[in-house]
Amino acid sequence: MNTGEKAAQLLKLELCDHCLGRQFAQLGHGLENHTRGKIVREHGEKLEEKHFEERPESKTGGECSICNGIFNQVTDYAEMVQSSLDRYELETFLLGIRPPEELIRKEEEIWEEYGVEHTEPIKTELSRLIGKEVGDLTGLSVEFERPDIMAVIDMREGKDRIELQVNSILFYGRYNKYSRELPQTEWPCSECGGSGCDNCEWTGQQYQGSVQEIIQRPFIQQSKGIDAKFHGAGREDIDVKCFGKRPFVVEIREPLKRKLDLEEIKQEINEDGRVEVFGLKETHHNKPAEIKQLKADKSYRAWIEVEKLEEADLKSLEKLEGVVEQRTPSRVEHRRADKIREREVKEIDWKTEDKLLVIDVQAESGTYIKELISSDNGRTKPSVSGLISQKAECVKLDVTGFHIPGEESE
Ligand SMILES: [Zn+2]
Ligand SMILES: [Zn+2]
Repeated sequence: MNTGEKAAQLLKLELCDHCLGRQFAQLGHGLENHTRGKIVREHGEKLEEKHFEERPESKTGGECSICNGIFNQVTDYAEMVQSSLDRYELETFLLGIRPPEELIRKEEEIWEEYGVEHTEPIKTELSRLIGKEVGDLTGLSVEFERPDIMAVIDMREGKDRIELQVNSILFYGRYNKYSRELPQTEWPCSECGGSGCDNCEWTGQQYQGSVQEIIQRPFIQQSKGIDAKFHGAGREDIDVKCFGKRPFVVEIREPLKRKLDLEEIKQEINEDGRVEVFGLKETHHNKPAEIKQLKADKSYRAWIEVEKLEEADLKSLEKLEGVVEQRTPSRVEHRRADKIREREVKEIDWKTEDKLLVIDVQAESGTYIKELISSDNGRTKPSVSGLISQKAECVKLDVTGFHIPGEESE
C-alpha cells in the first residue's frame, strides 16, 4: 500500500489528527503528529512523502475512534503529575505512560489492517506530549539515564494513577572510628535477634549504635528520606579502631530534599565523638560497586602479648616482609571457602612498649592481621608467632592507613 492509498483508507475512519498523523510518524522532521494528520487530511489519496515538508496550521486534541479523544486531556494529565511532584526537590524527571488497554488494542487493529511502516506507538506520543507540558509547568528537565524521579501515569482499568519512583542520592566520604565497642553496621541483639528484649533494653541492637547509624542519621534527617544504605570499603572488627580513613558511600532512599548542607551533616556526625568523617561529597550510583572492589593496601598497628620479650629474637620479624600464605582463618571458616591465599606484607616495623610487642605493618588488601600475628595454629606462614618461636596474641589493633592509588589519605 503506498502513502496515498493508506491515507485514503485511513480517512474513511473517524480519527483525530494525532492518530491519523501517527501512522506516518517517521515521515518529515521536527513536526508533531497532529500536524502530520492535518497534512494527510489536506492531500488525501494524492499524499506523497514530500508533503511532510509543509507546515500547515494545526491544533491538538479532537474526537477519535482509536484514542477516545485522550489528547484533549494532555494538560489535565500534566497538572496531575505536577501536583504529585510538588513535595520533592528535583531537577530532572522522566515520564512514563501505561495507556488504557482498549487504546492499545485499537491501535494494533489499525496496524494489522494498514501496516506498521512509518508509525509510532500511541504510548510514545502521549508521554512525549504530556512530558513536555510537565517540563513547562515545573521547569524540570527530562533525563533518560537517571532522572531524580520517574513518574508513571497508569491509565489502565479506567483509573488514572500516578506512580513515582524516586532515585536515591549518594554521598562518598571516609571515616575514622575511635571506639572498640562499635560495629560498622547495625548488629541485631544476640538474645532476641532484633525484635527487642530486656537484654538489649528493647533497642533490638547488640551494641549502642554503629558507624552506619551515626553517619546516616543526619543525612536522613536533612533529606527526609525513608531510609539509607551503607556501603563500606571493607570493615574493621568491632574492637578495632580505625585511623586510616576508610572509604564509604551512604545512599539515601526516596529523599524529599536533594541539596544537603554537607558541612552541617559532617559536624553532627563528628559531635558523637566515636566516628569522624572526612571529605563528604555527592557521588554517582556506581560508587558503591567501585569501593567494594577497591583493593587498597592497609597499615595497622598491633599490640601483641608474648611470653618472653627478647630483643635478640625480634630481629627475625624482618622475615615477615614478602609473601605470606594464609589458610582461611578458623574463626571465619564457617562462612568463607577453606583455601590458601597468598598476600604480600610490604613493610614491618616493631618496638616494645611496657610488656607488649608493638608492630606497624603495611599489607596487601585481604590480609588477615590477627592471624598474621598468632599463626592460627600454623595456618598462616610465616607469622609473628612462628618467627619468634613462641605464642603471640594480638590484644589491640588499629587500622592506621588506607593506601588508595590516586587519593591522598588526608
Ligand atoms: Zn485519536
Ligand atoms: Zn534483644
